[in-house]
Amino acid sequence: AKKLGGGNFSFFSEELRRELDYRKQLEQDIRTAIANKSFEVYFQPQVSLTSGKISGIEALVRWKHETRGMISPGEFIPVAEKCGFMPDIGRIVISKAIEEAAEWDRAGIDFGRIAVNVSGTELREPDFDAFLFGTLERAGLAPQKLSLEIVESVILDDEKTGIAAKLRHIRAAGVHLELDDFGTGYASLSHVNPNEIDRLKIDRRFVQNINENGDNTKIVRAITELARGLGISIVAEGAETEAELDSLMAIGCDQVQGYSIAFPMPQDKAREWLLARSP
Ligand code: C2E
Ligand code: CA
Ligand code: CA
Ligand code: CA
Repeated sequence: AKKLGGGNFSFFSEELRRELDYRKQLEQDIRTAIANKSFEVYFQPQVSLTSGKISGIEALVRWKHETRGMISPGEFIPVAEKCGFMPDIGRIVISKAIEEAAEWDRAGIDFGRIAVNVSGTELREPDFDAFLFGTLERAGLAPQKLSLEIVESVILDDEKTGIAAKLRHIRAAGVHLELDDFGTGYASLSHVNPNEIDRLKIDRRFVQNINENGDNTKIVRAITELARGLGISIVAEGAETEAELDSLMAIGCDQVQGYSIAFPMPQDKAREWLLARSP
């Protein structure tokens, strides 16, 4: 039998070894999944709180691992970002999302806009805008039907990385830009500017239990009034209950996305959902 100290040491190094093996395996599996384009896209609707009409639908990456089952984006995206795989994954998701939206469009199914998440490493690829316009053109989808969800820290990225100019170019073509997870990052109000962005997404942490938490109600009301005053539209993320929907409606928030409306759905279910609500 090992001595206590030695045992502890080998316990920790075994944990570390297992963690490193897992990471290495995950990295290898991501590589294979990229080669096979086996990332899937789920879709979650965003609706107007006043009309009930669909205003947009967000594309969310899903990865069904052969042996481990569903691995959440929260788990594999950080690894993919670290290994430099995110631009490739993003392009698979963006292509699939745009192609699906183009099919809805041709079938006369109203979806508002297709919203895709774009990270800083994806945007920094020199040909990101060319890729985006090429994908839209091949699919036959108007740029006005696309929206990019970008977190504050990326929008705030300084001019010399070229991101700001690239975003202006993309927006000038008609693509909408949204500030994702608003309120959690580097909220510089100078970027809450209708000349730069079209919509704010209020982070779920402010929406949760909004009826029970006076502070959250005040925060969401203030953000909503700010956005309305500036002519920027606003969507509350992650509304899970009827009570949260009621509070958001009372505050006058434009739009909502969350489990109370619909879960993220695979493309056949999303199509059914949209069809059932198409006028
Ligand atoms: P996000 O952009 O803030 O997306 C919203 C997340 O909240 C999604 O998690 C969605 O499934 C979840 N959600 C929606 N409604 C509710 C609700 O009512 N309650 C709760 N508890 N959660 C709700 P998901 O799909 O696991 O994605 C996590 C994050 O991964 C996303 O956060 C986004 O930052 C990133 N992500 C997902 N897909 C992509 C992608 O294709 N590209 C990039 N770059 N990032 C992505
Ligand atoms: Ca998002
Ligand atoms: Ca978000
Ligand atoms: Ca988030």
